[in-house]
Amino acid sequence: MTVSQRITDKRDDLIQLTQDLIRIPTLNPPGENYREICDFLDKRLRQHGFQTQLIRAHGTPGDSEKYPRWNIVARRDGAQTGECVHFNSHTDVVEVGQGWTFDPFGGAVSDGKIYGRGACDMKGGLAASIIAAEAFIEEHPNFQGAIEISGTADEESGGYGGVAYLAEQGFFDPNKVQHVIIPEPLQKDRICLGHRGGWWAEIETKGEIAHGSMPFLGDCAVRHMGAVLSEFETKLYPAMAARFTEMPVVPEGARQSTMNINSIHGGQKEQTDDFTGLPAHCVPDSCRIVIDRRYLVEETLDQVRDEVKALLEGLRETRPDFEYELTELNSVIPSMTDKTAPVVETVAKAIEDVMGKPPTYVASPGSYDQKHIDRIGKLKNCIAYGPGLLELAHKPDEYIGIDDMVDSAKVMGAALETLLLPKG
Ligand SMILES: [Zn+2]
Repeated sequence: MTVSQRITDKRDDLIQLTQDLIRIPTLNPPGENYREICDFLDKRLRQHGFQTQLIRAHGTPGDSEKYPRWNIVARRDGAQTGECVHFNSHTDVVEVGQGWTFDPFGGAVSDGKIYGRGACDMKGGLAASIIAAEAFIEEHPNFQGAIEISGTADEESGGYGGVAYLAEQGFFDPNKVQHVIIPEPLQKDRICLGHRGGWWAEIETKGEIAHGSMPFLGDCAVRHMGAVLSEFETKLYPAMAARFTEMPVVPEGARQSTMNINSIHGGQKEQTDDFTGLPAHCVPDSCRIVIDRRYLVEETLDQVRDEVKALLEGLRETRPDFEYELTELNSVIPSMTDKTAPVVETVAKAIEDVMGKPPTYVASPGSYDQKHIDRIGKLKNCIAYGPGLLELAHKPDEYIGIDDMVDSAKVMGAALETLLLPKG
């Protein structure tokens, strides 16, 4: 037998496993059924000789008695010591949304695809990694090193109750784990080397309330915000658009610095739709925006922050009565693994062997849990590789192709053979 043949033979098992995972609705928010999915994985992996640990991320955002943040880390040691390959998948899924023609938690099979929320993002990838590991262990029970499989919480809401917590507890210490593969849906023939960084902040401009008929007696915070937006349009956006990255980000439009203005609120609170009255005449004394700045591996968080601050400080110099407050909301670092890193070269060769052509290298416009493995774990030898189409993530009628899962399980199995069998 070969690992590849064993995976072919496990096709029905792979389908069933994916369906079982989809049928546990791990919606986040609020973080439902995390314990249930960990218990399910616990049972499955222990049956295949893994030792398991269930870890609750006490005190992390959203963790409560009602919605505890449970994670599982399973480990199978080989007959001899060696390196450890860790497959990390998040178990949470985003809300269902409108427009489904399939039951989002039914796991229906139709036309070679399995449908459901989380099918591609990323329960199909989790199932593929489990099948790959099981097939490898059956074929090579005396392998050297160790395989770890984790199922972690809250990736969709930042990963603080999942991978970040585990990294803080030392689970991604490079002395213990040498290779990390995250089976996010990046397509079976692509290797995702990393992702851009992000910085989120709220900017408030301040004014002074007065009667709307005599605005000169007050100070309009919305006009001050208009000046901020004008600075962004004339200076920041052109500067960002001129900054390109070496990172192979897809889609192409994200190969530069970008910024979304998430929201704007100024002046009187909006009334409910059934309110039939007229607004009172007031000069607004506050206007707030939230910005979502995505940055490149060539930029630093300090530069990103300072660039915005400099524009605001410039307005303070030039614009009478300009007052602002900047509140940072969150930030994540960009992460990019080198193409020559062992896990990249190994998976690249495995893709070539299984698919008959070299991989495409990509990077993600948004971030995923690699940021925590990099920054907290200090582990650089990490990629995202898994079946499914990123475009389907978070969409209605999300699905995973069964052949794609089988093929990427074969790639993962081949990678395990390279990393965990004696050389030569
Ligand atoms: Zn995901």
